[in-house]
Amino acid sequence: MSNPPSTPAIKFEEVSRHFGEIKAVDQVNLEVNDGEFFAMLGPSGSGKTTCLRMIAGFDKPTSGSIYLYGQDVSNLPPYDRNVNTVFQDYALFPHMTVGENVAYGLMIKKVAKAEQTKRVDEMLELVQLKGFASRKPSQLSGGQRQRVALARALINHPKVLLLDEPLGALDLKLRQQMQVELKAIQKRVGITFIFVTHDQEEAITMSDRIAVFSQGKIEQVGSPAEIYERPASAFVAGFVGTSNLVSGEIAKRITGSEKTFSIRPEKIHLTTTSPSADMVSLDGVVRDVVYLGLYTRYLVEIEDGVDLVVIEQNLKTTSMDVLSAKGQKVKLSWHKDHISYLEA
Ligand code: ATP
Repeated sequence: MSNPPSTPAIKFEEVSRHFGEIKAVDQVNLEVNDGEFFAMLGPSGSGKTTCLRMIAGFDKPTSGSIYLYGQDVSNLPPYDRNVNTVFQDYALFPHMTVGENVAYGLMIKKVAKAEQTKRVDEMLELVQLKGFASRKPSQLSGGQRQRVALARALINHPKVLLLDEPLGALDLKLRQQMQVELKAIQKRVGITFIFVTHDQEEAITMSDRIAVFSQGKIEQVGSPAEIYERPASAFVAGFVGTSNLVSGEIAKRITGSEKTFSIRPEKIHLTTTSPSADMVSLDGVVRDVVYLGLYTRYLVEIEDGVDLVVIEQNLKTTSMDVLSAKGQKVKLSWHKDHISYLEA
């Protein structure tokens, strides 16, 4: 039976999971749409994995309800939910071949052998492991094992696929490659993917939307651009990238209001020309310069004890040029539209 498009794939209604005094998840409300690539992002201990485990059915809320395509699954065991999980350590069966690992879900369901072979081939093709069926997991690289785990989890066409730090065990280059591939696979199969990560860059690269977790609560849900450009709280502004937070008197001088705002370092320019009316203009003194090859990070004091981080790309400059800026008076400017007021 197909669902009306408005039915969310996952819905959390006031969901809490407390372990005695510890509020691992606390009164969380959340909707994940059908077909979304959705990230649960947050620091260690913020409650992401507990949320994932409750969707999978490995754990139950102490209060509140979880719906899967409109059905209350809060108290259903894992095997009665049409969801599957890919674990960070892949949890492949070492004694089985790749083909047998991928076929496992079909074997359990006693699907006919010929059908099994056909579907395993399709899955291995999807994850670009055609021809690897007879290998053992020990004969594969980390990235290839990850793909086998993905194929095994997708073969039964779950409605929702849960991924717990799926790329955490891979080195940076392979991780970046798998980020692109994982997204492409998700688009092809059209299944709702929910993944847990503490890596903000990974969440921004792969997701349609991100929920940012802190201390068992969701601070903000939005597209990567919304989260980055319009962080709702100081926590989000600080956790997702680097941000300058300005408040009080100095904020009032810049915007006319004492309300705290955030401005991203790459939006601020060091300039010598007079800015136009839609630009903010400030005087400052360069206190520190860090040359980082691709770009340079400046720390500019705009008032006693108030510093802003400014990042400029090194388009023409050399390290000698930028380092000589230390101690100099500069003008800072940024577009007024790039100011983002915090809600909390
Ligand atoms: P990580 O990225 O480190 O996995 P996380 O954001 O996924 O962190 P959770 O694993 O959901 O965080 O844990 C949230 C909080 O709940 C932590 O303080 C953790 O210690 C606590 N917690 C989780 N499981 C249990 C448990 N079974 N018993 C007691 N406390 C728990």
